[in-house]
Amino acid sequence: MSDPDCIFCQIVAGELPSQKIDEDERTIAFMDISPATRGHALVIPRAHAVDLTEIAAEDLQATILAAQRLARRDFERLHCDGVNLINSCRSAAWQTVFHFHIHVIPRYDDDPLRLPWTPAPGDQDEIAAVAEVLR
Ligand code: AMP
Ligand code: ZN
Repeated sequence: MSDPDCIFCQIVAGELPSQKIDEDERTIAFMDISPATRGHALVIPRAHAVDLTEIAAEDLQATILAAQRLARRDFERLHCDGVNLINSCRSAAWQTVFHFHIHVIPRYDDDPLRLPWTPAPGDQDEIAAVAEVLR
């Protein structure tokens, strides 16, 4: 339920300060301490879960709904032009805090963020081969 060594559990418990902006029975949302853009926030389940593969379905559902609620508020109150939801699952995918969270990042037409990959057509045989592995 809670990991005493986890900084996000400490935020849930009020043991670490945060700029909390929303909460419900299963989730809280607070401002990211190193914002990528104006309004960058995190939504987390109150219950400790390391990542996407471990979070309980009810908590995942509540967390994505809270992210949607916050995204709508970003459009209304920050007048952003777009929103990215980002979840990083494990170190290889950039996860640095091992308590599941969804980044809610307001986007602005003139902001400096860029896609981290360069879209280019892939090899069709390779795409079909990996699709077979995943079916
Ligand atoms: P990730 O790298 O996807 O695991 O995201 C972790 C996020 O947590 C980063 O964007 C950090 O800036 C943010 N973060 C770390 N510590 C705190 C904190 N005490 N309060 C708010 N945000 C934090
Ligand atoms: Zn935790």
